[in-house]
Amino acid sequence: MAGTWVFVEQRDGNIRKVSFEILSEAKKFGDEVCAVLFGKGVEGIASEFAKYGADKVYVADADVFANYNTGAYVAQMVAMINEYSPNAVLFAHTFNGRDFASRLAQKLDAGLATDVIAAEVSAGKGVFTRAIFAGKALAKVEVTTSPILATVRAGVFEVVESAGAGEVVKANIAATDGDVYQTIKEFIPTVSARPDLTEAPVVIGGGRGCKGPEGIKLVEDLADMLGGAVGGSRASIDSGWLGHELQVGQTGKVVNPNLYIACGISGAIQHLAGMSSSKFIAAINTDEEAPIFSVSDFGVVGDLFKVIPVLTSELKK
Ligand code: FAD
Repeated sequence: MAGTWVFVEQRDGNIRKVSFEILSEAKKFGDEVCAVLFGKGVEGIASEFAKYGADKVYVADADVFANYNTGAYVAQMVAMINEYSPNAVLFAHTFNGRDFASRLAQKLDAGLATDVIAAEVSAGKGVFTRAIFAGKALAKVEVTTSPILATVRAGVFEVVESAGAGEVVKANIAATDGDVYQTIKEFIPTVSARPDLTEAPVVIGGGRGCKGPEGIKLVEDLADMLGGAVGGSRASIDSGWLGHELQVGQTGKVVNPNLYIACGISGAIQHLAGMSSSKFIAAINTDEEAPIFSVSDFGVVGDLFKVIPVLTSELKK
């Protein structure tokens, strides 16, 4: 049992920043660090990982991996783990990463720590820190199975360049079409000039207090002024003011930006679960008793329809 594997997420050859964050952190464990790349026609990007410390890059390149699909990806990973016996396998805590790691844990009967914000991995033991009770407390969990599995929150680790040998190892393809039990008929990317919600350094959140598209427009203008992403509470998503992919919270995405500004969001525990680890939190809310203020570094008790335009115009200056 040796080596820390990092499953790297890519789409059309574009690698998610969180994968580099995890590779950089894995380097600190002192064990061999290996990037694991699945896809179709992805061999060309395997060299990317050497400069973030990857000693090896395992590449599984086949048609069956063209898009993420649970069955084929899990079958392939199980075969590779059986062949190479890594000590730990780390995933990003994204929709795909959560899905992949949990199915893999079930298949291997292995322990899985999810949404971790700190990690110490040694031979046969992983100690991970997780935020619990919507970020009000931190729990340390220990995984001692073989392998150790964890999903890692985006934005908590720095991307650090460091040289690795980056030896490319072509994996034997074990997954077949028979492992695929969901097929993607069409992939419709969201077209947005704004940064990815989970990777943006600034996120402006809009809630029910925005009252409709007019209020959301103010949130978007502020986000654009700061080069940030827009996120929403479930109330604003369910109202159809923002797309589903922008929901922040327990059943949405977990964000960890340098700055999160909650506009017209009360701060329900399910929303806090997705943003309370942001480095600096500001809130604009008419209700001074709103729970969002209890996690905020800076708060404005006021009407967002008055406050945001002033803020945006001051920033413009
Ligand atoms: P509200 O709670 O209605 O708050 C609106 C806020 O706007 C209030 O605080 C009000 O004072 C303020 N306001 C009103 N007018 C103005 C104004 N003019 N200017 C400034 N402030 C104003 N929620 C999520 O967000 N993400 C999740 O992932 C999620 N998952 C859930 C999972 C489950 C199983 C359940 C049961 C719930 C989940 N929820 C989730 C819903 C959650 O419980 C809340 O209902 C939701 O977060 C509330 O959204 P909100 O804060 O926008 O609305």
